[in-house]
Amino acid sequence: MRQPLVAGNWKMNGSLASVDELLAGIKSGIGDISKCEVAVCPPFVFIPLAQAELSGTSIPWGGQNLSTEESGAFTGEVAGSMLTDFGCTYVIVGHSERRTLYGEDDAVVARKYAVARAAGLKPIFCVGETLEERESGVTEEVIARQVDAVIDLEGVESLGDGVIAYEPVWAIGTGVTATPEQAQDVHAFIRKRVAEHNVDVADNLRILYGGSMKPGNAAELMAKPDIDGGLIGGAALKPEDFLGICKAADDSA
Ligand code: PEP
Repeated sequence: MRQPLVAGNWKMNGSLASVDELLAGIKSGIGDISKCEVAVCPPFVFIPLAQAELSGTSIPWGGQNLSTEESGAFTGEVAGSMLTDFGCTYVIVGHSERRTLYGEDDAVVARKYAVARAAGLKPIFCVGETLEERESGVTEEVIARQVDAVIDLEGVESLGDGVIAYEPVWAIGTGVTATPEQAQDVHAFIRKRVAEHNVDVADNLRILYGGSMKPGNAAELMAKPDIDGGLIGGAALKPEDFLGICKAADDSA
């Protein structure tokens, strides 16, 4: 049995006041969630606040990115060890916004996966195709290339230390969600690809869906056999929406 995970990716949103409110809202509603793991990934500067508010609760927190380097003259970067210093469990790597806006290619993402593991973090490793790639029929090729980059660098067993998030780029922040069938097909493809290397790792691997997930569409996505939770952007900024998705994941477990 894979425990569902719903993780909130807050992106570059929030203020001290709004983050405090959001954390309080999530904490006060989490009592209804017993089977689903619920995590949040605030912007770096709010991680100490998340740590202060969430320590002693069941809610882990994480970063949205980390440096490929361990320390040194890398102005503006944040190392994995700094995230663990502040109690982070997770870190997102390879989000499509990092890939497209900041030029992170498969090699950089794989290196980030490696340094995250080395720091003791669990990577939330994002993969996904663009609309153009889907329409040209190369979705599986793209996903295979992205997944293989980590397998080739770190070995398939390394996937046991993280989770994969399938996030079709055309569904992120657009209000367009993949149909449960479209998502299931890609999730099953990812699991099969991993199983070609190691069946146990594939069976235990949590594969999250991300892309305009909301309380209204979460249950049908979570009902699919290879969808083990969600990586949530916009809806993670409102406690009632985020908790509604967590409840759907909880009910699916
Ligand atoms: C994301 O950015 O990881 C994401 C899934 O965003 P949204 O839920 O807003 O589509």
